[in-house]
Amino acid sequence: MSLYVSNTLSGEREPFEPDDPENVLVYTCGLTVSDDSHLGHARLWVQSDVMVRWLSHLGYGVRHVQNFTDVNEKIVARTGEGDLGDTEQAVARHYVESVIEDMRDLNLDRAEVYPRVSEHIPEIIEIVETLVEKGYAYEAGGSVYFDVTEFEDYGKLSGQDVEEIESQGAESDRAEKRHPADFALWKAGAVDPGDANEHRSDDLPPLEEPAGQTWASPWGEGRPGWHVECSAMSTTHLDDSIDVHVGGQDLVFPHHENEIAQSEAASGDQFATYWLHVRLLETAGEKMSSSLGNYFTTKNAVEEFGPNVVRMFLVSTSYTQRQTYSEATISEAQERWERVERAYERATDAADSVDAYAKVEDDDLRAAVVDAREAFTSSMNDDFNARGAVSALLELASAVHRYVDEVEAYDYRGLVDAIETFEDLGGGVLGFQFGAADGGDATLAGDLVELVLNIREEERAAGNYERADELRDRLEALGVTVEDTDDGSTYRL
Ligand SMILES: [Zn+2]
Repeated sequence: MSLYVSNTLSGEREPFEPDDPENVLVYTCGLTVSDDSHLGHARLWVQSDVMVRWLSHLGYGVRHVQNFTDVNEKIVARTGEGDLGDTEQAVARHYVESVIEDMRDLNLDRAEVYPRVSEHIPEIIEIVETLVEKGYAYEAGGSVYFDVTEFEDYGKLSGQDVEEIESQGAESDRAEKRHPADFALWKAGAVDPGDANEHRSDDLPPLEEPAGQTWASPWGEGRPGWHVECSAMSTTHLDDSIDVHVGGQDLVFPHHENEIAQSEAASGDQFATYWLHVRLLETAGEKMSSSLGNYFTTKNAVEEFGPNVVRMFLVSTSYTQRQTYSEATISEAQERWERVERAYERATDAADSVDAYAKVEDDDLRAAVVDAREAFTSSMNDDFNARGAVSALLELASAVHRYVDEVEAYDYRGLVDAIETFEDLGGGVLGFQFGAADGGDATLAGDLVELVLNIREEERAAGNYERADELRDRLEALGVTVEDTDDGSTYRL
């Protein structure tokens, strides 16, 4: 059975037939780096990571590119806040670093590249020039706008009728635009302080001067519009035509509609064959306790629940459906991960025990492995249904628990098949990490280090510097690096 995917462009479930199976091109719309990531972003990343991993598992050669939007008024709005720095670049660098940390914590496979807008200004200018030359875009007051009435297929992704779009972009652009639905490809000058202040914290003095980076262009100093960046980066790092474009459901209109218009008008080729949109993550509203609300950033969630539970949670609803974040859904993920992990550990212990034999064969155990692989495969081929895939692993976990409970002489080969199934499918495809210090263990280790650091602090306060140094040396010997700063001690494992 082959893979079927839900394509927003056609509105249908379609068989997946890439141009070149050796070279499947996938672009994921990444994050605007103006804040720490939250679980909604993490859901998009984990779902697209699982898609890419499944395509690789099926034998496709996959090239995956995911961008960072590091030029944006929301980034400018945070300049001067805390230790973020006074420039758009400094704030963006801070959050690119933070987001990469979150991605590594979530055990995402590395993309081929993570291009940033600020390093692709020449490519952006080139595509805008092409659009002007071909008559799809026009200059007005040092800005350049895409003329939606010139692109016949405008609206084909989102189903929008051009004449019904009342406006796009900033209201202040209206006077320059020919049609209310036209959108900016290039904006003259720096960020208007009013636009940045809309996103600025009330605790900060409002910006009074135009702010943010500008670049020289054929139309004067200015900044790229938002949508054109993805057309430029996708073309630069992949091709004019790609197989799969992934993004959040909230980006269908206008962002992805505009990417199609720009790319296809410029190149004359179809931009992306399959448009896969990950539905949003919702919180359970007021019913959610405030303590759970604290774990809505990726960092806090990973620290509290561990990466495996967070991943289990994020794959537990199909990408084509909205997901709810609540105490109940998180604890379901916790319980599911523990069942799978425990089964993996018990299978490993049994296979590595003196009671595992070469000539013992258990038909039920072996059948459970075959069934789990089949159920996992058919779920994933059914539009990357990761929830179904997890159910297949849970079935296998139950079979392993039953088997180890009931039997005294173990089927070595059967157990190893089960272990490899957990590792290949749960690890390789769903991205779980078996046998890693995680969740409870990782939290406990962190708490114990904090405890030792507190004792060390007390020793120092009491003038017992030798004792304090000894505690630091013993932590270092265990692989814990302690750094003393003005605000106290920090550590790295
Ligand atoms: Zn994009």
